[in-house]
Amino acid sequence: MINLETPKKFEGLVESAHQVAINVFRANSRKYDLAEHEYPKELDMLAALMDGMNEGGGMSGAGAGAVGSGSSNGDSGSGNRNGSNMASLLGLIELCWGDVGLLLTMPRQGLGQAAIAAVADEEQLKRFGGKWAAMAITEPEAGSDSAAIRTTARLDESTGEYVLNGEKIFVTSGDRAELIVVWATLDRSAGRGAIKSFVVPRDAPGLHLDRLEHKLGIRASDTANFRLEDCRVPKENLLGSPEIQTAREGFSGVMKTFDNTRPLVAGMAIGVARACLERTRELLSEAGVEIDYSRPLHAQGAAAAEFIAMEADWEAARLLTLQAAWMADNKKPNSLQASMAKAKAGRMGTSVALRCVALAGTIGYGEGELLEKWARDVKILDIFEGTQQIQLLVVARQLLGKSSADLK
Ligand SMILES: Cc1cc2nc3c(=O)[nH]c(=O)nc-3n(C[C@H](O)[C@H](O)[C@H](O)COP(=O)(O)OP(=O)(O)OC[C@H]3O[C@@H](n4cnc5c(N)ncnc54)[C@H](O)[C@@H]3O)c2cc1C
Repeated sequence: MINLETPKKFEGLVESAHQVAINVFRANSRKYDLAEHEYPKELDMLAALMDGMNEGGGMSGAGAGAVGSGSSNGDSGSGNRNGSNMASLLGLIELCWGDVGLLLTMPRQGLGQAAIAAVADEEQLKRFGGKWAAMAITEPEAGSDSAAIRTTARLDESTGEYVLNGEKIFVTSGDRAELIVVWATLDRSAGRGAIKSFVVPRDAPGLHLDRLEHKLGIRASDTANFRLEDCRVPKENLLGSPEIQTAREGFSGVMKTFDNTRPLVAGMAIGVARACLERTRELLSEAGVEIDYSRPLHAQGAAAAEFIAMEADWEAARLLTLQAAWMADNKKPNSLQASMAKAKAGRMGTSVALRCVALAGTIGYGEGELLEKWARDVKILDIFEGTQQIQLLVVARQLLGKSSADLK
């Protein structure tokens, strides 16, 4: 049975994350929204503090780097675990209540670590674990259809290195991370089964930064475009099996990462939306709007009714997301639930943020409040790690038992 209370062992983690959200993230939110591309140096001290807390177990799993296919700190033997996926989710919700852009550029919390955790062997975990890793899938000709990537990897037998060539765009933390997990194909004619992920150190020869993007939201987070020109990495940097597998086996390996990361991105939207709802409630209260839960919806004022409907939408997204993370911790296949959660939370986040801006009127649209910023920030959570439309496609395929060839 799923228990909807915050697990007791994570109460400390949630409280610590909340304090960070208030004192570091909120405190610097507007500063780095305005100073796009400037490194938020306040995060270095925070990262050091978190490393210390992680060693002591105090903040273990608060970021994306800690998720995995199984539970590392679960209630072993109980058959009902709340492990690293749940811990990461609860931590991220709190941190994104503070600022999602700053969360996305937290040292050592890049989504690339989730890919490493999902596929790496013991030796690779030792070499790459704990490092700041970005994830580079998207290319000019391959976004939603990630199987269409053109970046190639060729094994140079004489040196024991893979040689990578191609272009990667919109890489979150691509400039600041230490490692970049690059998706490339071993053989373009062999289809999806030939797509593998390679760990490329940020300073590898042949990896060229072309530019940083200017963006609508999450401006504290750097978004980089790269060229890979005869970029060489040791063959031991390939994650998973070097064999070209059948389309289903091979691609499902790299796609497995999403089952862990989609609930986290959903959690980010839940954190931002909660921030919007809390601030809107305060503004409504200051304006004399009463929200009385003892009255039916039709007996509320229009603003109160709208607010209650948004809270219900938020709660639905939150429950779906908790379920998806809980399933990952309990080793239950969760691709369907991960996509449902991401679709619901992405849409809810965008819709709630904009409706809160509307409810707050001119106050909501001005830079005197963070509401307008949250409405800009939240949009990305309905785009990356698979857009709204792609999540719905994944859900439809799963429910109807169709393959990606059957339903495009
Ligand atoms: C700020 C930011 C950060 C990012 N960070 C990363 C990162 O770290 N790593 C990374 O690899 N990528 C990253 N991305 C890229 C992101 O994952 C892609 O933008 C996303 O996957 C969509 O791809 P696309 O932009 O090429 O759009 P397209 O795939 O061209 O899609 C355009 C539109 O068509 C819709 N669409 C596409 N196919 C279908 C279909 N079959 N059915 C119905 N509708 C469809 C899409 O939903 C979308 O609305 C980032 C993007 C942004 C904006």
